[in-house]
Amino acid sequence: MQKESIYGLTYEQLKDWLVESGQKRFRADQVWDWLYRKRVKSFSDMKNVNKETIQLLEDNYVVQTLKETIKQESKDGTIKFLFELEDGNYIETVLMRFDYGLSVCVTTQVGCNIGCSFCASGILRKNRDLSSGEIVEQIMNVQHHLDERGDQERVSHIVVMGIGEPFDNYNNTLDFLRIVNDQNGLSIGARHITVSTSGLVDKIYQFADENLQVNLALSLHAPNNDLRTQIMKINKAFPLEKLMPAIDYYLEKNNRRITFEYILLDDVNDHVEEANQLVDLLKDKRHLSYVNLIPYNPVADHPYERSRKKNILKFYETLLENGINCGVRVEQGSDIDAACGQLRSKQIEKAKRKKVNA
Ligand code: SAH
Ligand code: SF4
Repeated sequence: MQKESIYGLTYEQLKDWLVESGQKRFRADQVWDWLYRKRVKSFSDMKNVNKETIQLLEDNYVVQTLKETIKQESKDGTIKFLFELEDGNYIETVLMRFDYGLSVCVTTQVGCNIGCSFCASGILRKNRDLSSGEIVEQIMNVQHHLDERGDQERVSHIVVMGIGEPFDNYNNTLDFLRIVNDQNGLSIGARHITVSTSGLVDKIYQFADENLQVNLALSLHAPNNDLRTQIMKINKAFPLEKLMPAIDYYLEKNNRRITFEYILLDDVNDHVEEANQLVDLLKDKRHLSYVNLIPYNPVADHPYERSRKKNILKFYETLLENGINCGVRVEQGSDIDAACGQLRSKQIEKAKRKKVNA
């Protein structure tokens, strides 16, 4: 049987397992500290932990399941990691540098079943969910990379915006959030973490009830059902009249600002008409809304183009004039395929070509 990643356990799970296996509770504190504070890469390096516990850990878990296959660093400091999973699948993780800190974008699934028409991840259907350990390991690999550089840098922010729909892998995503947020571990503040969803309504309600203080982003991309269904087929199952009440519920329960993501696609959803419709859709919650206008990253074989600068500006101004908080996302790492799914799809293309040529 393949051993699972130790990073998949929350502190509580680790403690319960060690105690059930006959070890003292404080061993859990020691192991947790070695994993997340001292950040060793093998159980045998946990110096003050007794031999029996180390053996138990080695018999049941591993510290590393991801294999780094490509690391690309961009001129602006963005680093893109491509990891191979134990089953041969690839995932990607991106480290971005901002004035406010270092943010990591994590992947939650191999592929994605939501199949949005503009997205590189959606072309390849979901192969499987990532385990909580595989999601945490992405952060740990990036942090180990920073540790090795010796500049005392820490991952301070996380965006769950890589490949996959986090709410389609809800429990593992939630365990991931608990693990990275743990005060005695990485201690990445809930307010520094953002989870992005395409709008799985029942899970938005569930997430609202967790009261986590984690930020929520909704990939809206269109202000009316016809257009939204055209570009995101998930809108058929969860149309705006179901989605917006779920957002209202989240706002009521959490009183935290929500981000609406809106990719601007040339001549599709970027007219002043849609900007005005968006104003109408959000006007009753504008004090708790922020619209993130995203310049589209063209994906091969997709029918869309990036909106023209003057249209992006007009859209932005229309929202602002009507009291909607908004901004245009600044691109990171455009010289290294840092956009969602791009490096992975290139790697898969390469593998396919190899097969054809073999
Ligand atoms: N599945 C989740 C999270 C991953 S996608 C979601 O859809 O929200 C993260 C963000 O990247 C989403 O807002 C998505 O719409 C956006 N995105 C996907 N493909 C893109 C592209 N080609 N250019 C710009 N943004 C893209
Ligand atoms: Fe999946 Fe998000 Fe891409 Fe849509 S945008 S296909 S939900 S990863």
